[in-house]
Amino acid sequence: MTERHLNYIAGEWQPAFSGATFEDRNPADERDLIGLFPDSDAADVAAAVAGVSAAWPAWAAQSPEVRADVLFKTADIMARRADEIASELTREEGKTLTEARNEARRIAANFRLYAGEALRLNGETYPSESGQLVLSVRQPVGVVAVVTPWNFPLSMAARKLGPALAAGNGVVFKPSEITPLMGQRLVEVLLEAGLPPKLVALVQGKGAKVGQAITAQPGVDALTFTGSYTVGKQIAASLSTDTRVQLEMGGKNATVVLADASIDKAVATIERGAFGLTGQACTGTSRVLVARPLYAELVARLEKSAASIKVGPGTAEGVQMGPLATRAQYDKVLAYVGIAREEGGRVVGGDALREADSSLAHGYFVRPAVVSDLPDDSRLWREEIFGPVVAIRPIDSLDEAIRLADDTEYGLAVSLVTGDLPSVLRFARETQHGIVKVNSPTTGVSLNAPFGGLKHSSNQAAKEQGGANVMDFYSRIKSIYLGA
Ligand code: NDP
Repeated sequence: MTERHLNYIAGEWQPAFSGATFEDRNPADERDLIGLFPDSDAADVAAAVAGVSAAWPAWAAQSPEVRADVLFKTADIMARRADEIASELTREEGKTLTEARNEARRIAANFRLYAGEALRLNGETYPSESGQLVLSVRQPVGVVAVVTPWNFPLSMAARKLGPALAAGNGVVFKPSEITPLMGQRLVEVLLEAGLPPKLVALVQGKGAKVGQAITAQPGVDALTFTGSYTVGKQIAASLSTDTRVQLEMGGKNATVVLADASIDKAVATIERGAFGLTGQACTGTSRVLVARPLYAELVARLEKSAASIKVGPGTAEGVQMGPLATRAQYDKVLAYVGIAREEGGRVVGGDALREADSSLAHGYFVRPAVVSDLPDDSRLWREEIFGPVVAIRPIDSLDEAIRLADDTEYGLAVSLVTGDLPSVLRFARETQHGIVKVNSPTTGVSLNAPFGGLKHSSNQAAKEQGGANVMDFYSRIKSIYLGA
């Protein structure tokens, strides 16, 4: 029987007021219906915001130890349930079980990090000539709306819910319509850990409708969003000026391979960055700039590697790459493979396995693609594809590498493969990307380090997701002057 899931609003599990639902299906086999979820609208959002508005002041008044304790317990439950939730993540989003376990197991560390931050919400004191004591204190922002994408449905949400709750806020959470079950699981775990029932609201539904209702709803004090630049721009344009907003958006990330690099290391770095998570990572490698003497060999090695990757359902033994997450993603990736061919590029891979392989006929499977010999004005150099497609071109100098790596509207992650320290130092200093990796893939980041992009990749609010400095976004600083 089809499972019917619910919203969680004002401490009650309930359907959308309209009764509308939407389907959640398995991208490896679209015949597999995971369940029906509420397709909410502005009425559900208004009730969610009202419930959380009433609840957060009591949470903010709790001692930091109490808030930390709930987040530590959340971490413990997540650690216990990680493998079970990882299986559901594979079924819902498509990533392989190994990738899903990596994501689910890290959530515990994430909540522990922010449990610690609840205890460290320090203010400062300032020297004053007037004989007063001047100090600053941190207070919660209030109602924080959390809007997340589908590609890391646990991780992106935990990186927002954790610090928001640690700082004493309440949360209205809208997961992606592609991964509603992962959103629900996270809320269930928080409630099991003892989060006050009305402090968090879960509003499921299809993006534009619920998302726009959230941006239009009075009473939302801050909105943290991770997703595409197109949607981020719409959110920024429609929010009132007194709503705090954090936007983490797309990327067009490059790996640069200098002439001294080991080809083996370059191949391993690019394979992981470009094809891991079926290329659906904001920090995924979609461009490679390689020193001309290595170009032909690197292209050949990457073509071989792409051809040997085992593509299939994420649950199957030995599978290294799962399906794309949606039919729209599948069509988009194949469209870019077509564009590369039309532009005269050499394309190896990029096959529509759904059509080519009867055992994969019900999922959104593609073979990873390596594209070389593209014209300089190719769309593949500029547009975010968000799939396992990597374009390669030769470079003749470090100057050219820096110029081309930065020749994009985005500025999220970049990596450099070389043993040459002066080149590393110059590249790291000059490149216009928020994350610079040396001898490692553009993907993969530390939870405790600042994370975020430049240019169209981020609005750079409160330097940004990840690390302790994210607490600046989730708290307000008030300056207090104490006179005698
Ligand atoms: P989208 O921008 O399509 O959606 C992100 C979230 O916004 C979803 O919950 C979506 O809901 C919701 N949404 C859709 N329309 C609106 C609207 N008009 N107002 C408010 N919210 C709305 O991104 P994807 O989910 O497709 O994720 C992929 C994108 O996310 C890529 O561009 C990727 O680079 C980026 N990303 C960035 C990261 C970073 O840290 N910089 C990390 C991970 C991904 P629904 O799903 O229901 O449509």
